[in-house]
Amino acid sequence: MNKGKGKNKYQFRKAHGGLSIVAFLILMALAGVCLVYFMATMAEYVIQTKLAAEYRSIALMARLYDAGRQAGQEENLWSLLDTEGREYLIRSADGDVLHQAGVATCEEEGRSVYLMSLPDPIAIYKDTRYPFLYGTDRQEIFLDVPALFRFLRQNGSESLDLLGDAAFLYDDEIPAPHIEVSVSASEPEIDDYAYGLQIQELTEEQRAALAKQGGSSFIHLPVWMGIPVADGSRIFLAKAGLELKISDLSVLSISVFIFLGLGLFLCVLFFFNVISRIRNQRRAMKMYFTDVITSGHNRTWFLYNGDRMLRKRSNASYTYAAVHLVFVKYRTYVLCHSVSAGEAILTQIYRSLERHLGKKEICAHCSPGEYALLLRVSDEASLKERIRGILQELGAVDPNHTFTYQVGVDLLPPERDRNGKIVRRRLTDLEQAYNNAGTARGTLESKEDTGIAFFDSALAEERKWQDQVEEHMRTALEREEFQVYYQPKYDPQTHTLRGAEALIRWQSPDFGFVSPGRFIPIFEKNGFITEIDHYMLSHVAADQKRWLDQGLACVPVSVNVSRAHFIESDLAEQIRDLVDSAGTPRDLIEIELTESAFFDDKNALLETIRRLKEYGFAVSMDDFGSGYSSLNSLKDMPLDVLKIDAEFFRGENAGERGEIVVSETIRLAQSLHMRTVAEGVELKEQVDFLAEQGCDMIQGYYFAKPMPKNEFETKMAAG
Ligand code: C2E
Ligand code: MG
Ligand code: MG
Repeated sequence: MNKGKGKNKYQFRKAHGGLSIVAFLILMALAGVCLVYFMATMAEYVIQTKLAAEYRSIALMARLYDAGRQAGQEENLWSLLDTEGREYLIRSADGDVLHQAGVATCEEEGRSVYLMSLPDPIAIYKDTRYPFLYGTDRQEIFLDVPALFRFLRQNGSESLDLLGDAAFLYDDEIPAPHIEVSVSASEPEIDDYAYGLQIQELTEEQRAALAKQGGSSFIHLPVWMGIPVADGSRIFLAKAGLELKISDLSVLSISVFIFLGLGLFLCVLFFFNVISRIRNQRRAMKMYFTDVITSGHNRTWFLYNGDRMLRKRSNASYTYAAVHLVFVKYRTYVLCHSVSAGEAILTQIYRSLERHLGKKEICAHCSPGEYALLLRVSDEASLKERIRGILQELGAVDPNHTFTYQVGVDLLPPERDRNGKIVRRRLTDLEQAYNNAGTARGTLESKEDTGIAFFDSALAEERKWQDQVEEHMRTALEREEFQVYYQPKYDPQTHTLRGAEALIRWQSPDFGFVSPGRFIPIFEKNGFITEIDHYMLSHVAADQKRWLDQGLACVPVSVNVSRAHFIESDLAEQIRDLVDSAGTPRDLIEIELTESAFFDDKNALLETIRRLKEYGFAVSMDDFGSGYSSLNSLKDMPLDVLKIDAEFFRGENAGERGEIVVSETIRLAQSLHMRTVAEGVELKEQVDFLAEQGCDMIQGYYFAKPMPKNEFETKMAAG
C-alpha cells in the first residue's frame, strides 16, 4: 500500500459553459437596463419639454384671468380664454366649480411635480378619462405606457379621442414594425399582434381626406395643470395635451425589437458555441482516454477513474488490488504472425478481462501487452484464485498457442485513522500502487511460466535499497569507499598459503559495512560492475606490485570478473594493459569467471579466455556445480582452474553422495589438466577429505575468512 500526493494529477475540467452563460446573461441584462434607462431618459426629456411649453401657455391664461378678474371684467374674459381652444375650469378653495369650459375630466387632487425647465414645482392633475400621465410621490411626471396600450387595445372606439385626428392618417411610409391600429369605418381597434400604426379598412375618401392633412400620426395624452389665482383663493385648471408622435413610439419599438432580436441572435450564437465547445471537449477527452489498439480504456483513463473510485467514501471499506498483467510473448507473437494478428489478440484479452470485472472494478490496456486492473478483494487467497481463473481463460484466447502471463499485485486495504476507524482514502495514489504491482511483476521476469507476484514491504525495501545504491555508487567509487579483502587459499596437504581471492567490501559512510551480496547483483544489472572489476583489478595489481617490491612471498590472487564485462571484445587487452601498467607480473593475477558467464556469447567468451591465457593469465571457473550447464561448458573452455562451489560442503549436499560428486569432479578436472579449488570449506573433515582426493587448494573459513590487505600481508609474511 502506498500513499501518494493526495491529489489526482489526472484532473480534467469538464466544459459545461455554466459560467460563460451566467456571464453572458448578466451582460445582456446590463445592456437591457442601459437601453431601458436611455429610452426612459429620452422619453422623459421629450415629455418634460412638451409639458413645460404647455405650462407656459396655461400660466398665461391664468394671468389673463387674474388680470381680468382684478379689473372686474371677469364675465368678458371667458370668450377671450375660450379662443385658446382649451378645456379649463376654475375651482374655489372648497372645490366648487366656479366656471367651466368643455368637459371637466380633471381629478380632485393634484400633485406637485418638478419640470426640468421650470424652477418651481407645478400642480398636475390626472385626467379621469385617460389617466396615463400623472405625477408621482417623487414629484416626477410619469407616463404609464403599458396601461395606455392596454387601453388602446380594449377601448377601440373611445381611443379615437386619444389618437386624435392623426389616428385616421394612413401613412404608407411608416416603417414596420410600428403600432397597428385597425380601424373599421366606425371604430378603430388596435391589433393584438401587430406593431405598427396602420389604419386599415378606411374608405377611399377617408384616406384622401387624411392624406391631405399631412403630418404624422400621434397620440394625444391629456393631463391637467393647476395654477393658483385670485391670491390663492381659487385655482385655474386647464387641460394640457402631451402629443407623442407614433413615430417616436415606433423608434422605441424598433429599438426594443432590434435589441431583442440582437439579444436573441447572440443568445443562439452563444448557445451553439457553448454546445460545440462541450462536444469538442467530450470528443477530445474520449480520444485522450481511449486505447487505440483495443478501442477500450487506456492507462490515463485507468489512473484518472481509478483514483476517483478509490477516494470515494462509499469505497473506503473495501480492499482493492492494483493489478499489472502482462502478456509476456506479445512481441514474439507479432514477429511470428503480424501486427494486426497481435493486436487482435490484445483486443480479445481486453474483452475477456472486461467480462471478468465486477461492480466498481475497472481495467485498461496500458501499452502493447500490458493491462491494468483495479479489483475488489476479500482476501489474498480468493484474489489469487480469481486471477488464476482469469489467466486460465486468457491462456485459451488462441487455441493454437499457449500464452504466458505475468501478474503483479499491490493490495490497497482500507485506510484507518489513529483509532483504527476506517477513513476515506484521501492520499491513495493509484499510479504508485500500479507501479508497485509492476515492480512485483518484475520479479517474475526471469521465469518462463505464468505467475502471480504480490508487492510487499520487503520488495519495497529492496527497491529502495537499489535506488540508494545506484544513487551513491559513483561517489563511492570516486571516494574509494570500496575496499579489497583477500581470502587466502591453502594447500590442503601442507596447509601453506598458495593463493587468494580478492573480494570487494563497501565501507560506506551512509550504510556502514556492506557485503558484496547486497550490491554486486545491482551492479551486474545496471552495468556498473565493469567499473568495479577495473577498480578491483587495478587495486589488486597495485597491491601485488607493492608486496613484491617489499620482498613478500607473493601468491597468485584471483579477481572476479563479471559476465557483463565479457561484452567488451577487448577485455583481455584491457586486463593485460592494466596489469602491465602496474608493473605486476601477469602470473600473479588470476581471472575468475562466474559460472553464469557461460550463458552469454560463448564464442566471444572462448576468444577472451584464449587471449587471456595467451597473455599469461590463469583463468578459473567460479562456483562450478551451482548451475546445470557447467559440465557442458568444461568441454569447450580451455580453463586452468575449477572452483568447486561452496554448496557441495553445506547441509544435505555434504553427505556421502556429495563426497562422490566432489571426488569425481576433482578427477574430471585432473583429466582435463585443470587445478581445483574447493570453496566454502569450514570443517577439518572436509579438508582431510579434499586432501585425500587430491584437491589443489582450499578457500574457506576453516583456514581464513576474507580479510583486509594488511592482515593478508601478515599472513603472507608468515608464509
Ligand atoms: P565468490 O566469488 O564465489 O566468492 C566466494 C564467496 O564465498 C565470498 O563471499 C566468501 O566470503 C564466501 N566464502 C568463502 N569461504 C567461505 C566459508 O567457508 N563459508 C562461508 N559461509 N562463505 C565462504 P563474498 O565475499 O560475500 O562474495 C560473494 C560473491 O560476490 C562472490 O562469490 C562473487 O561472486 C561476488 N563478488 C565479490 N567481490 C567481487 C568483485 O570484486 N567483483 C565481482 N564481479 N564479484 C564479486
Ligand atoms: Mg569468486
Ligand atoms: Mg565462488
